[in-house]
Amino acid sequence: MSANVDAAELAKFNSQAQSWWDPRGSFRPLHDLNPLRLAYIATGTRMVGQEALDVGCGGGILSEGLHNAGARVTGIDLASDALDVAKLHALESALRIDYRLVSVEDLAADRPAGFDLVTCMEMLEHVPDPALSLAAMSKLVRPGGSVFVSTLNRSLKAFALAIVGAEYLLRMLPRGTHDYRKFIRPSELARWARHTGLELVDMTGVTYNPLTQSFRLSEDTSVNYIAHFQRNEP
Ligand code: SAH
Repeated sequence: MSANVDAAELAKFNSQAQSWWDPRGSFRPLHDLNPLRLAYIATGTRMVGQEALDVGCGGGILSEGLHNAGARVTGIDLASDALDVAKLHALESALRIDYRLVSVEDLAADRPAGFDLVTCMEMLEHVPDPALSLAAMSKLVRPGGSVFVSTLNRSLKAFALAIVGAEYLLRMLPRGTHDYRKFIRPSELARWARHTGLELVDMTGVTYNPLTQSFRLSEDTSVNYIAHFQRNEP
């Protein structure tokens, strides 16, 4: 197994795996975010008939969305219980999604330029060396293909909202879900991406409104954001 993984992080996701598809459970924010991020992907790239890879797919919320939008989807994760939930959920809904327990680095060695589209949402802030994961994604996408990455910004506002607000006040997320030190500034993400041959095409903020309990895309990237990169031609 690849070294770029934090076993304690995987254990956290495995322990919550049974509630993955409960729209009011621990993964509620992912359910609420899903339509928005799929809409954002759809404005940036084609999905129908495309070979898509969902990195850190967990229970498969985004993978199923990509599949339903017409892509052929491979989902990878290293949390085996979460992946089992993803497999079972796809089976129950009769969806053909290829779920695999493999690291992004190992898959990159096997299938370079094998995908038109790579997504990695809400995962990099749980990984020891996110730049290494990004380099693997850059290897996996074909030249001209798209990579969509979402994560949390390392800002005071993100600390206040994503940790104090979501974990302690609103109890939207289990305590200990996020570690502020692992949040990533957009400039850092863009720099790592550039070094590995990924060009930043666009970035959008994702803003939570606690009164309406809903997310929307916005210009404010200070808390949660999604970046769209394109692989340079060789
Ligand atoms: N991308 C999904 C799930 C996000 S939760 C979504 O947005 O709907 C974060 C996921 O990242 C978990 O499933 C966790 O197991 C996975 N993860 C954390 N570290 C990982 C690593 N090093 N390699 C692969 N997956 C990892």
